[in-house]
Amino acid sequence: MASSAACIFCKIVKGDIPSFKLFESDKVFAFLDINPLSKGHALVIPKHHGAKLTDIPDDSLAELLPVVKKLVLATGAEDYNVLQNNGRIAHQEVDHVHFHMIPKPNEKEGLGIAWPQQKTDMDGLKALLADIKSKM
Ligand code: 5GP
Ligand code: ZN
Repeated sequence: MASSAACIFCKIVKGDIPSFKLFESDKVFAFLDINPLSKGHALVIPKHHGAKLTDIPDDSLAELLPVVKKLVLATGAEDYNVLQNNGRIAHQEVDHVHFHMIPKPNEKEGLGIAWPQQKTDMDGLKALLADIKSKM
């Protein structure tokens, strides 16, 4: 299993740094976020070290969302956001892939989202569709 000696989340998985562990399996680890945006804010991570989503093998990725779902049900969150940041400009601070499960109990607590929508450009969307599909 890939791990990085310098990585804070790899240290948490190994138990070298303590955490409030919620779940552990062969490939997945989940724990409470140390600076929560709301009560129940949790992180679900692959044990495999990788900075971005594309660095994680599919078999590990496939096991992450069912654990997010378990946590939603266990916390009783009715409204919630699932977030996974990649890269500094996209608000990633820890370079080990993690899915946030963030309950949204009210307007003030939980994730606040800016949603800077752009005008619809049908021709642009058609060209983009063709471009992306040709590379999948
Ligand atoms: P990011 O901005 O990278 O998506 O989120 C990183 C998250 O990891 C933050 O919400 C932060 O509070 C959390 N975090 C950072 N260091 C630790 C730690 O040592 N323990 C725990 N439990 N959470 C951490
Ligand atoms: Zn790591």
